[in-house]
Amino acid sequence: MKLISVVVPCYNEQEVLPMFYEEITKVTGEMKEKNPELEFEYLFINDGSKDRTLEIFRELASKDKRVRYISFSRNFGKESGIYAGLKNSKGDYVVVMDADLQHPPAFLPQMYDYVKDGEYDCATTRRISRQGESKVRSFFARMFYKIMNKISDTEIVDGAQDFRFMTRQMVDAVLSMSEYNRFSKGIFSWVGFRVKYMPYENVERPAGTTSWSFWGLFKYSLEGIMAFSTFPLAVSIFMGIICLVLSVIVFMAGIAVSLVTDKKFSGFAGISLALAIGGIQLGCMGIMGQYISKMYLEVKKRPIYIAGETDEDFRNKDKVE
Ligand code: UDP
Ligand code: MG
Repeated sequence: MKLISVVVPCYNEQEVLPMFYEEITKVTGEMKEKNPELEFEYLFINDGSKDRTLEIFRELASKDKRVRYISFSRNFGKESGIYAGLKNSKGDYVVVMDADLQHPPAFLPQMYDYVKDGEYDCATTRRISRQGESKVRSFFARMFYKIMNKISDTEIVDGAQDFRFMTRQMVDAVLSMSEYNRFSKGIFSWVGFRVKYMPYENVERPAGTTSWSFWGLFKYSLEGIMAFSTFPLAVSIFMGIICLVLSVIVFMAGIAVSLVTDKKFSGFAGISLALAIGGIQLGCMGIMGQYISKMYLEVKKRPIYIAGETDEDFRNKDKVE
């Protein structure tokens, strides 16, 4: 018997969840017909939803014993959802996918084929088009991958997603990275292993809305850069050198002007230089501060998520009554 855990982080997904459940059980049913050795568990994570998501989990859990769930005490973010899912999954293989059907379950049989014979440790999809996305957003997304791959040793493939079919070995490697500031795209890539990228066209959500604002994505990409690169810190050294060179030039120019002409060298150049240096220093301190604030959060060792209710609580409650 081989168990496949399907991990699904959900935040306000009442509209798509029934569709998702129908779709995933259909696909896994077909997989089981072809490969009778397969068993499945669906591990849903409720990331502090404000709608009926948890109630839907309960309904699903009471009619299908393959359904497990963890409901967070509040919204911790998708990254925490993925972590909780991986940590509590029991499968020999684990799939991480979104609830909104933008990660089509129809990919699963092929992903399993890539991974089952040991040829690959992970199968994942890669968006080859950014259809249905605004031009500005696509531009920034491309910029992000360009910058990230220039300044970080961890390569992040453009269009890579959190739709992953992984072996237990890879899941354990991902879990061994117990950092608080989690950036899954980087973590999945950092652990290495043999990864099969499957190209696919972007699919739009059938219902519900994305919980990402432009600003949210922008902040998230900065987090990603900081989590996997210390290059911004090196920028300060570079700026320091530039300032030093500039100040020598201005100093020499000042002397030259007062020697050659009878004009005293005006203080204006000096003052603007001082201002520039001040600005650069503040900027660099800000960058350092960002890293220190991340360290501060890491050092506190706060839990990555807090579970409020699980399917076990729900099932046991039924027994007692
Ligand atoms: N999600 C989550 N917690 C959050 C935000 C999102 O668990 O705080 C889940 C969401 O329910 C979905 C997945 O993460 O299953 C991707 O979210 P979304 O579709 O909003 O993002 P997009 O596809 O636009 O990147
Ligand atoms: Mg989505």
